[in-house]
Formats: sequence, structure tokens, C-alpha cells
Amino acid sequence: MALAYDGAIQRLIDAFASLPGIGPKGAQRIAFYMLSASDEEAQQLIDAITEVKEKVRFCDVCGNVCETSPCPVCVDPRRDHSVICVVEEPKDVMSIERTREYRGLYHVLGGAINPMANVGPADLNIPKLLERLKTSEVQEVILALDPNIEGEATTTYLSRLLGPLGIKVTKLASGLPVGSDLEYADEITLGRALAGRREA
Ligand SMILES: [Zn+2]
Repeated sequence: MALAYDGAIQRLIDAFASLPGIGPKGAQRIAFYMLSASDEEAQQLIDAITEVKEKVRFCDVCGNVCETSPCPVCVDPRRDHSVICVVEEPKDVMSIERTREYRGLYHVLGGAINPMANVGPADLNIPKLLERLKTSEVQEVILALDPNIEGEATTTYLSRLLGPLGIKVTKLASGLPVGSDLEYADEITLGRALAGRREA
């Protein structure tokens, strides 16, 4: 039998390996790094995780991550409250912000429709979007989902759902790298896709 780590070090390796984007080798490297790190450095990581779990929450209005709900974007009077940009994840809000092309509000769905992973419309933050559209002065909804199959499916679903409400529904112009994630598009390409948006 191959020699395996056991006890605390293996638990730490397993914990890192369960995180997105970290494979078994990376998990092992980080675990051993933490083993040789100073107590202070290890404590900083523990404190950062604890603080995030205690303080950070999801905005009751838009679903983005925040420390106060409603979040600063939702209550900012300098932003254009007549347009909502719908994205999959909080990181997509950052991608759109980096383009400096957009000054409206956001709505974070928390994912995309994906039958293979058993994610349907009921699993997404859609009811709150409908609520917002009924009670606010929104004139346009921009569907800025990932340029992949799940994003396309979600865009189609939402454009059919929102169409009858009489609000302008647009989607990003094509030109983004197909099959990928918004976060991999550079600011200029994403900014152009946003500026060139068309009716969904
Ligand atoms: Zn918000």
C-alpha cells in the first residue's frame, strides 16, 4: 500500500482539495506551506475566513455579496436606477464594473440554468428580480450571462419570462469568447459587448 498522510495534515489537504480550482497537488503544496508558515500567518488566514463568514452576506435586494444590506450599489443615488444588469455570480459584477461602461444596478442570480447539474430556474434568485421589476422604475434589463450553453439557456428563459412585462430586455453583443466565463473576457471586449447590446 502506498504511504499516505493521515490525521491533521491529510484533513487539511482534503479541505484545500475540496475548494474550486485547487487540484490534489496544489492542495498538498498549500497544506505543507501552512505547516511551515508562522503562527501569525496561519492565524491571519483563519481570521480572514472567520470574518468573511461572520460579516459578509448577500444583499436582500440584488443578491450581491455585501457587509450591509441593501448593499452600497443598491442605495447609491448616483447610479442609474432605471437599468438592471443581470449576472450569474458576484464576481461578474466586478467584471462589469471594470469596464467602466455601466452605471446602473445589478441583480445576481447565483448561477445559471444547468440541467446536467440539476440547477433549474427555481434554484436561482429570480423571484426577487420579478419583485424588483414590479415595484421599481426599471426600464431596461440587461442579461449579461456567461457566453456558454448554461448562460444561453438562462438568457432564453429570462427573455421569455420578462418579455410580457413590457420592459426592454437586452443581451450582450456577440464577440465574447464562446464557451467561457465573463471573467475571462478583457475589459475592452466586455465593454464593447455591453455598449453594443441588443434586444434579447
Ligand atoms: Zn444590492
